[in-house]
Amino acid sequence: MIKRTIALVAHDHKKDELLLWAKQNRETLKQHYLFATGTTGKLLVEQLGLSVMRLLSGPLGGDLQLGAKIAEGEIDIVIFFWDPLESQPHDPDVKALLRIATVWNVPIATNVSTAELLISSPLFEEEAYTRAKPDFSAHINRMNK
Ligand code: PGA
Repeated sequence: MIKRTIALVAHDHKKDELLLWAKQNRETLKQHYLFATGTTGKLLVEQLGLSVMRLLSGPLGGDLQLGAKIAEGEIDIVIFFWDPLESQPHDPDVKALLRIATVWNVPIATNVSTAELLISSPLFEEEAYTRAKPDFSAHINRMNK
């Protein structure tokens, strides 16, 4: 079975939703490597007994730590329940996380229905499936022309 690296993040008003989804998918999640921002990770450990590598709390830099891991190719999937009804002190970091996941073509579920579809996709368990890594060579070499 392929082990994927899954990152989980939820804003405060979305934590219950994420915990419920994680509880419903606990048997699947526990077979993979899990990362989470500080408080989300704490809840996943304490309430669901999952093994989670915890980053800093989101507002203290956790979203940026996760963004750096995405840029370095360490994260396969992001489950990020951000709160669309409340502005966050770390809004720039939230935007950065959403942006860098898009840059690197990392699947990112931002609500429960997308998370459900993602984790139940046949490709999720498919050993042979790896997402396409974008080719940025034109960007990297743009000053060498
Ligand atoms: P938290 O961070 O898990 O530490 O609450 C989440 C976030 O707001 O990014």
